[in-house]
Amino acid sequence: RLKHGRALAEDVWSIYNVANLPADCINLGQGYMNFAPPEWVTNAAKEALGTVAANHYSHPKGRMRLRQALKKVYDSQLKRDLDVEKEILVTSGANEGQYAVFTAFLEPGDEVIMFEPFFDQYLASVTFNGGIPIYVPLHPPVNATGKFSSDEWKINPEELRSAITPRTKMIIVNTPHNPVGKVFTRAELEVIATLAKEHNLLVMSDEVYDTLVFDGKEHVRIATLPGMWERTVTVGSAGKSFAATGWRVGWLFGPEYIMRPTLAATTRIVFCSNSPLQEATAVGLEQVQERKFFRTQTAQYAERRDVLTKCFDSLGLPYTNPEGSYFILLDISRVRFPDDYPFPESVLGRGRDFKACWFIAIEIGVSSIPVSEFYCIEHANIGEVYARFAFCKDLDTLRHAAKRLEKLK
Ligand code: GLN
Repeated sequence: RLKHGRALAEDVWSIYNVANLPADCINLGQGYMNFAPPEWVTNAAKEALGTVAANHYSHPKGRMRLRQALKKVYDSQLKRDLDVEKEILVTSGANEGQYAVFTAFLEPGDEVIMFEPFFDQYLASVTFNGGIPIYVPLHPPVNATGKFSSDEWKINPEELRSAITPRTKMIIVNTPHNPVGKVFTRAELEVIATLAKEHNLLVMSDEVYDTLVFDGKEHVRIATLPGMWERTVTVGSAGKSFAATGWRVGWLFGPEYIMRPTLAATTRIVFCSNSPLQEATAVGLEQVQERKFFRTQTAQYAERRDVLTKCFDSLGLPYTNPEGSYFILLDISRVRFPDDYPFPESVLGRGRDFKACWFIAIEIGVSSIPVSEFYCIEHANIGEVYARFAFCKDLDTLRHAAKRLEKLK
């Protein structure tokens, strides 16, 4: 028996890994780019490798140059004077940072509320640390046809309120949201904030897609709402911001009483993060403003998104048009495949979406991620109607994929 149930089974990223799919299958599955980080950032990485100091351990808090660069970016956004010694922590990717928060704060039996669908790592990271995940639905619009906005996925404040018990320790917020692409509005975050304050809860706000928000929509940080800095830890990522997902450079910021035990946890998990790539990330952040990098990048991503949405429009299948992140949920309930198709072992026994995604990858030549993985086992059927397509790819690749996907008609 697996101690943590599904969390120790083969994960969705491994099943739909390019290694398991035909070489000519276009990969719109796991969210990573098929282009390099900007050259001025990779040059900074090469330069760092040429110095002795950057090839060795960093302080577990992160390299000072990166903490300073993070301070520069976030001080103005947060209207704070972040303390680089006490309020900023560099982690080995956002994922490790979140894990360290759970390790630092969860006691056995503590409940952690997450909105469902949720990024799959939350579930395992919570249960591995003795926590109990509690799911609050993010409801898709009813009877949606064709294109609808990620904004139409809604939480019900009453459902959130009734999920809170005396054992609730924390709420996980994820905006922009993976896999829905929803960018939570200020009003929605205020509902969450009010309940967090009323019940004295911590908030872990995963904002790794914060630089990828489209159509002029505002990214609101829950940490900036009244009384929320005191109970919020915010998560960020170089991987998403600089097209460098394999660098595993992420960070957290929040009040000292959250960061101090989290630092202790991260020091035990990884000791410190990758040194040369922290230096390069620092250079990246130092220069984003003068290069208008995030603004340009966002426009590029919006164009990439629109290649796929145009294709989905022509298919006439319902889909979520994301306001942020780089994912599109396509309703695949009308996509047909033969029951006796030669599915691999890893896909058999999983939801219909696992089979549909496998079939689409092999027969149409475009991979995607089955969305039931972003639901708990009890609610997997809700996710089974969706496949998640990532558009963090160059335009030619997306156009090629769109051409192939026309066959879904
Ligand atoms: N964030 C990436 C995605 O959603 C996956 C990260 C991971 O593999 N754990 O595609």
